[in-house]
Parts: sequence; structure tokens; C-alpha cells
Amino acid sequence: MGNIKLLDEQIANQIAAGEVVERPSSVVKELVENSIDAGATRIDVTIEEGGLQLIRIVDNGSGMESDDCELAFSRHATSKIQSGKDLFAIRTLGFRGEALPSIAAVSKLTCITSSDNTGLGRKLVIHGGRILDVGEVTASRGTDITVSELFYNTPARLKYMKTVQTELGHVSDYMYRLALAHPQIAFTLSHNGNILLQTQSGSNMLQAIAAIYGTAIGKQMIALEGSNLDYTVEGFISKTELTRSNRSGISLIINGRYVRNLALNAAILRGYHTLLPINRFPIVVLQITMDPTLVDVNVHPSKLEVRFSKEVELMEFVETLIKSALGMQVLIPHGAMPTSSKNQYVQEQLVLSRPPVLEDTSYAPKQEQPIRETFRYNNDAPRNSQTPATNQMPGSTGQGLPRRLADLPFESPKGTIKGVAEESRNFLAAPTAEAPQFPTLAPIGQLHGTYLLAQNESGLFLIDQHAAHERMNYEYYYEKFGAPSPASQELLVPLTLEFTPSEAGHIVDKLILLEQVGVFLEGFGGNSFIVRAYPHWFPAGEEKAIIEEMCELLIAEKKGVELAKLREKSAIMCSCKASIKANHALSIAEMEALLDRLGKCNNPYTCPHGRPIVVSFSTYELEKMFKRVM
Ligand code: ADP
Ligand code: MG
Repeated sequence: MGNIKLLDEQIANQIAAGEVVERPSSVVKELVENSIDAGATRIDVTIEEGGLQLIRIVDNGSGMESDDCELAFSRHATSKIQSGKDLFAIRTLGFRGEALPSIAAVSKLTCITSSDNTGLGRKLVIHGGRILDVGEVTASRGTDITVSELFYNTPARLKYMKTVQTELGHVSDYMYRLALAHPQIAFTLSHNGNILLQTQSGSNMLQAIAAIYGTAIGKQMIALEGSNLDYTVEGFISKTELTRSNRSGISLIINGRYVRNLALNAAILRGYHTLLPINRFPIVVLQITMDPTLVDVNVHPSKLEVRFSKEVELMEFVETLIKSALGMQVLIPHGAMPTSSKNQYVQEQLVLSRPPVLEDTSYAPKQEQPIRETFRYNNDAPRNSQTPATNQMPGSTGQGLPRRLADLPFESPKGTIKGVAEESRNFLAAPTAEAPQFPTLAPIGQLHGTYLLAQNESGLFLIDQHAAHERMNYEYYYEKFGAPSPASQELLVPLTLEFTPSEAGHIVDKLILLEQVGVFLEGFGGNSFIVRAYPHWFPAGEEKAIIEEMCELLIAEKKGVELAKLREKSAIMCSCKASIKANHALSIAEMEALLDRLGKCNNPYTCPHGRPIVVSFSTYELEKMFKRVM
């Protein structure tokens, strides 16, 4: 007798559950999608203990007829496709007929459903895939499914579940996306008796955005719309000054289905190109509709990934739409240019055709009447080219390329400094005795209001003035964040901050950490907080943005943030905001002050983001370039 046997249905379902039911949020996803497919206009989701204890979904959709109810829980039972051909044109969220049997195989499930208005319906109780009870009950039209003790019979899977807060985070995140994808449906989500999300039926996308992210953010969104023969794209994108520290604010909805797609994310970010600070991301909600034959949703059991048949065209279309939506925004304030440094990137874009933007230089001694000659000379140079200096050098085919100062043999501390952010910070944290001496440099002038030119007997040096200033400020703030408390400033008019419910949950857990860096938040009802006090040395005008970014950091780091990391990241944020930007004219005296202070830094070679501050051309290299030596 052979060894191969067909698995019984119960085991097959448990195996399938391994793919479809990863965690509580997957149950919520599958059940809510079924409710949407059933045409519900109201879907109420109740969970307990992050969904590990209980998940209940009640909808007012079509319901199931008595016979269908049992069939729905057998493997590969679906009302959504009839033949293989249908697979290539999916118009519903479900189609694999796997979710109900898989969920029922790994939980204790009760389903009550009614397909008419007789007041009667069907009840089915299944524990670990075994039917325990079937019968008639009183029920109104729609479906009510309760899933308790998820993974009670698969302890290995249960072991992988994270904290209640993490599982709740996944559930609420998914519910937000569904609410954005289906604003016409009234959703509620409650956890342990607290309502976390509530949307009204018949809303539009902007109202859904406001329900999720808060009205203040809703007001800062730009509408976007466009279509071609294949695609219709509608949605909202955040103005350039509204950014987040990660990509989680990007929601992509393809034919009503929330999906993740790296290529589309990248296309969106290309659309924002140079308008956002580095490592900052927009909030974007895009609803893309296309003929179902143009997209394959049968890529993965969770159906979160899709494949497009005309991918390149779609990416280009989205990028162009974003660019033009932002372009219009940038052009509107042209006459009255925003001066807050939050808009620096917009300014940097536009400054190509404008004179350098002058800002206060807080680092330099306020000596007026600086020697202007050198600057003028550079300023009068043709400004239609922004080509980096390196490309203007002869012999740029190789030998003439500038090198980082830290790479030069006569300066390098045997590879301690490589210009990588991580290493540079280690270096900062533990300055060593063998640290190299920063060379004494004499300023020559300034290029494009961005780079300082300086010299000493070894050669020519180019210094990125923004990076240099950032480094000096970083070291200043890093020290400040180490001992902030006595200097905290009580506010007469407190700042208020708004978060989504799950974000607010994270913040509550981390209030102590914030206090250790001098920021005192207090719950203000719902998901709002007020800022009671913060250190007086925060860069002026940027206080709120900095505190918001600190909160975002705490939210984004699911594993928990250490004080040292918060201190370091906060110092980076402050230094970035407080630093002079490119396109800023400096006098020779200011340049001298900057070089002098840079030389006193623990690590004068890289900015806190790890970019080089100084590159150099040795005298010998220059002589080689000009064929003075061979
Ligand atoms: P699929 O959604 O891929 O068809 P499921 O296992 O999720 O597979 O559901 C099986 C079937 O049960 C569905 O095709 C649908 O006919 C029915 N069904 C499930 N949930 C609901 C619901 N909330 N309302 C009405 N019918 C439902
Ligand atoms: Mg389904």
C-alpha cells in the first residue's frame, strides 16, 4: 500500500489558515471584506484584547440563505466566481473561498445570518473546524460573525502574537484603510469598549481622511484627479509642509481594494521629488480604478499585493499627476514667498530663478560690514547653471574627482571615519584620543551661496555650509537633550497635538520618555494632547513640528525607543530645522566663524545624516589636473 493519503478537510483548512489567517487583523480584514462584498452600508467591528480574545463583525448586507450558510464554511466555497475565466476579471474583494473555513479552523466561531426581512435566520457554531450547533434563530437581515479565542488550538501560532497594543495597531490600521477605500460605508471600530473609529455612511474620501487623521490634516490635503484610457486616479495628497517620518500615510486603493505596492509608492515619492525633506513622507490616499483585466489580484492569499499588466504606464501617469497637483500649489504663493524654513525645499526649488534667500545666521558673530567682494564675485557669475562644482572640473573622467577629507591619507584616522551616519555618531559618542586634527582653513569665497571654498597649504577645500551648520547644531542639541529638565518652559497658550487612536495609545505609553527629554504632554480627551512644557532652547518657531516628529518617532518604533535614540534623533531634527540652508550668502567673517566652530566639533567631517561636510583637492591633484606634474 502506498504512503500518500488525501488530508481530511479539517487539516486542510488548518493548513490554509496558516496563510490566510496570520493574526487578528487578517480575520478582521477577511470578514469586513465579505461584508463589503455583501453590499453592507454599515459595518460594526468590536474587538477585545487586540482581537486575540474576541472579534465580532456585524453587517447589514445581503446575508446568506440557510443552505449557503453551511456551504460557505466548506473549503473553496464561494459565490463570487463561477469559472476559471472569472479569475482574470475580479470585481469583488473575495474570490478564493478560503477565509471562512480557515478562520473557523483556528478559532471558536459563531455565525448568525439572515437573507430576508422575515426576522428569522440561521445560526452556526464551529469550534476548531467542527460544527457544534446549527439551527434557526431570530435575526435581522445581514450577518453577525463572532470569532473568539483565535489560535486556541494552534499554540505555535499563538506564540507569535505580539502585545495587545501591536495587534490592535494592525487591526486599526487596516480599518482605517478600509474606511478610506469605502467612505460611503459607515464603519465603527471599538476595542475593549472604547470607540476608536467612527465614520458616517455616505461620506466622501476627504471626510474619511478627516475622521482618521483629524480635521486639521484634512484641511491640508490637495485634491487630485485624472484619467486616461486605462486608468482613473482620484484622491488626496498632502501639501509639502505636511509630512510624516514613514510611508504609512500612503494608502493605495485599486478597484476598491487596499493594496501595498512598492512601485506605486516610489512613483508617488518621485512625484514629490525634492519638495520633501529627506526621510520625510507625505500622506496620500489614491483611489485607482481600472478594467479588472489590467490587474492581477491573485498574487498572494492575503490579496494585499497586486500585479499590473501596464505597470510602467501606470507609474508614469501617477507620478505626473502628483507633480502637476503639487506644481499648481507651488505656483500659487509665488508672489508672497513663504519664509518659514518648513518651506525650505519649495524655496530651494524656486530659488533657481531668484536671488539667494537671506536668513538670520545665528552661529556667526554679528559683525556687520563684512567683506563682500568675494561673495559678489560669485554672485555675479552666471546663475543659469546649478551644476555641482565637481562637474566643472577638467579631467572629471576620474583623476580629478574630489575626495572626502576623511579619505585623505594625511587626515584619516585609519578608517575611523568613513562618512557613514552610524559610524559618525559612534565617533561622536566616544571621541578618541587619536581623533584627527581638523585642518585650519582660510576662506576664499562661496559658490552658489551653498559651498564655502577654503584653502590651506595642502590644497583646496569645499565645505557644504548647511551640512556644517547642521553638525555644529547637532552636537549642541545632543548635549542639551542630555540634561533638559530644569530648563523646560511652561506655556501660557499650550500647543495641541492630534493623533489617530492607535497612535495616541502609543504616545500614552511613552510619556515618561518624552519627559526625560524635557517635553511634557498631557491627555486632552479623545486622541488629543496638549503640550504643557518644552525646553526653551528648541529652535524658535519649530517647537510644534519638533514635538510632533518626536511623537512620530515614538509611534513608528514599535519595539520601543531607548532614551539614547530619542535624544539622538531629536537632536538631529532640531539641528536640521535650526540650520542655515543652501543658497544663503555669507560674508568672509561669517565663513571664518563657521570654519572655526566646525573645527571644534567632535566630528567635523559628516553631517548627522552621514553626508560629507568637506571634500578636498590636494595641491598635488590640482597640479596633476593642470599637467604641471606628470
Ligand atoms: P470568498 O469571500 O473568497 O468568496 P469566504 O470564505 O470569505 O470566500 O466566503 C465564502 C462565501 O460566504 C462568500 O462567497 C459569500 O457568498 C458568503 N459570505 C461570507 N461572508 C458573508 C457576509 N458577511 N454576508 C453575506 N455573505 C457572506
Ligand atoms: Mg471572503
